Amino acid sequence: MANQNAQLQALVQTQVANANKVNTVTDKFPNFAVTLRHLCNANTDADLPTLWNQLANAPRAERTAVVEYALMTRADEVAMAGPVVTPELVDTLVGFRFTSQDLDDLTSGLSIFKIISAHDPQATAARNRSTVYATLQAGNVAPTLDDTKQLMESAPKMPSGLVALLQMLRAYSILLDVVFGGQHPLALAYQRFVRRWDQSSQNEINAHFDAHAIAPFCPLVVRRVQLLTQVWINEAATSLVLPVGPQDLPRYGDIIRDVTLRNWPSFQTIPRRYLQTPTPSRGTSGQLPPANDGGTGGASRGGGSGSNPTAERVTNTGPNPALTNRYSTHQGRLGDLIRQHAEHLPKADNDQDQICLSYCLTGGCNSNCRRRATHRPLTTTEEARVEGFLAAAGL
Ligand SMILES: [Zn+2]
Repeated sequence: MANQNAQLQALVQTQVANANKVNTVTDKFPNFAVTLRHLCNANTDADLPTLWNQLANAPRAERTAVVEYALMTRADEVAMAGPVVTPELVDTLVGFRFTSQDLDDLTSGLSIFKIISAHDPQATAARNRSTVYATLQAGNVAPTLDDTKQLMESAPKMPSGLVALLQMLRAYSILLDVVFGGQHPLALAYQRFVRRWDQSSQNEINAHFDAHAIAPFCPLVVRRVQLLTQVWINEAATSLVLPVGPQDLPRYGDIIRDVTLRNWPSFQTIPRRYLQTPTPSRGTSGQLPPANDGGTGGASRGGGSGSNPTAERVTNTGPNPALTNRYSTHQGRLGDLIRQHAEHLPKADNDQDQICLSYCLTGGCNSNCRRRATHRPLTTTEEARVEGFLAAAGL
């Protein structure tokens, strides 16, 4: 009996010790802590937004609740409705799926197209999915991939009108604040955009479009937010220095400028695969309606349109297999590799440009990459320098 008591007491003490142990973000998420700190402009784990330190210490089953609490707290602070927590949002955060390999996949990365505002009619259904998801995570048996997949919503959210659009734009602001911190340069730039959007742009759109043309136009605004934000995140994740200078942050103001100037063609960028019917030949007259009207007319723009200030995905059609195969053995993130081996970053033959490693090693990049001058076949000497970088990085 005494022996049993002693055992029990030891067990309780172990549990208490475990309960009191504070996990750092690096302890808990070693795969992405370095990139996360870089993106958040944080020197140490402690400098990261609260959400991350809470996630590092929450059991799997409570992650949904932790994310929800963080979103609600921020929403209260700024007196706006935040996003509803969904399984896909939790998955994006905890899986650190922030970057997007395909900018035309509207739901990849930290995309605004995943946002369901707390005011949205779908909010209740989304909350219910989260509850089931959290319950699954709490079980003794790990949920199967199928279980989880069924709870994931993969269709992009499309706002149906100006009110829904505003809710979506605002809710995304809350998410950026929570993920990066409310004083983060990206979050601040986006906050400014949302404030300005609120005041003037809706009137302009209302004045220009008749009622049934507004609904198809709204997703085009979301599309520009998604492109601008995702390009910045992709770029930031692989940059040495966080791109937060005046020229580096997403030009959200261009969205408002283009509404004010009625530059509607600049909004025609919903990827073709999301349109219900194939579109006829694209027009460039600038007098077309900006969106597809009931599924016809309008067009998504494929490759480079001169009037389109946003970036497109560029694919490396002639990659060097020796380099890509060698890189494919790397388990972690390219951005980590770049920062950890910065002194070995390869330069182009002109000795000025940095070679874009995303383009030559991962099969593609974005059209407004700052290293886009090297989005081309590399010379033999350049390839040798990329090999030198891989060797220095231990690959
Ligand atoms: Zn690039």
